[in-house]
Amino acid sequence: MNEIKIQDKEEPPSSEEPPGCKNWHWQFKHRLTYNDLIQRGIEVPKTNFPVAITPYYFSLIKKYDDSDPIFKMCIPQEDELTLLNSDPLCEDSMSPVSCLVHRYRDRALIISTTTCATYCRYCTRKRKVGIQHHTITLSELHKITEYLSNHQEVSDVIISGGDPLTFETDKLEKIISVIRDVPSVEIIRIGTKVPVVMPMRINKKLVKMLKQYQPIFVNTHFNHPQEITRDSKIACAKLIDHGIPMGNQSVLLKGINDDKHIQEELCRKLIRMRVKPYYLYQCDLIDGVEHFRTKVSKGIEIMEHLRGQISGMAIPQFVIDSPGGKGKIPIIPTYLISQSPEKVVLRNYKGELVEYPEVS
Ligand SMILES: *Cc1c(COP(=O)(O)O)cnc(C)c1O
Ligand code: SF4
Repeated sequence: MNEIKIQDKEEPPSSEEPPGCKNWHWQFKHRLTYNDLIQRGIEVPKTNFPVAITPYYFSLIKKYDDSDPIFKMCIPQEDELTLLNSDPLCEDSMSPVSCLVHRYRDRALIISTTTCATYCRYCTRKRKVGIQHHTITLSELHKITEYLSNHQEVSDVIISGGDPLTFETDKLEKIISVIRDVPSVEIIRIGTKVPVVMPMRINKKLVKMLKQYQPIFVNTHFNHPQEITRDSKIACAKLIDHGIPMGNQSVLLKGINDDKHIQEELCRKLIRMRVKPYYLYQCDLIDGVEHFRTKVSKGIEIMEHLRGQISGMAIPQFVIDSPGGKGKIPIIPTYLISQSPEKVVLRNYKGELVEYPEVS
């Protein structure tokens, strides 16, 4: 596979950011808003959750209606206006200090900003993201590091948001470095959709900075093969070539990727980019997202299909992030048919039954 060149020509070594559309500041500044869509003749209902779409991501739309997966993921639809729940995962009540969610014993998640490069209509943190305008302050960061120092059981810190890669590199470095300074923190993860919606953000300055704070992981968020482009491949390759392993967390979305062949293509393409499919999420129960929600059996069917068809390296774990903040629960097709003291009866990917004797 030599279709991707790691030294991309758009980024000459002498200048960090070439002008125009290959410049992430330009992309961020020229994001399409509600009014821009109306001006382009796209019918859009007015919703509380804002519209912002980078010109790059907008250019990936092939058809301007909801048959196009990218259109459907970033352009509001009437169905968004229905109300359900704003914080089903109870993140706000699991926040011991501002901007920190501590749900699992050993892991904590920082909501570093409420800004994203592009707003996804199905966002699980809609109650904050895009609506409140907050970026973490130095004093909040200080309280978080104090909390982490007093909770040495937390060894894994996830910098999430919003999207932390919308920060300038220096500001992001400030956040990462103070967390890295907490001795009990072993790994740092960054959750970001930027490689998908604003891949030109992944520049040399950023990757060189990140490389200094190993072990650091980046989990990104591709949902559909149409999001995989030359630019997004280059962005991921840059991170990975700087020693930053990447995972992908996608959300199962009705009419977008609730199809075993689309999921298979997505997972195959991701693993070829060295991005490990990590989670496939069942859609959360949030306001205005019901039209994206699929039956749980759809996810099981997809998992069943993947197991027989593709490399185990490319198979994500299907999870439901359970309501009430009860954590992520893996959902697996039933392979264990029966269990007795002597043996278990299993079913393989083809549906054949297999017996496996227990130790006596
Ligand atoms: C998902 C999540 C984590 C990380 O869970 P993993 O299964 O380790 O990826 C940690 N904290 C919160 C609040 C989360 O939602
Ligand atoms: S990038 Fe993530 S946090 Fe931002 S709008 Fe999309 S789903 Fe929500």
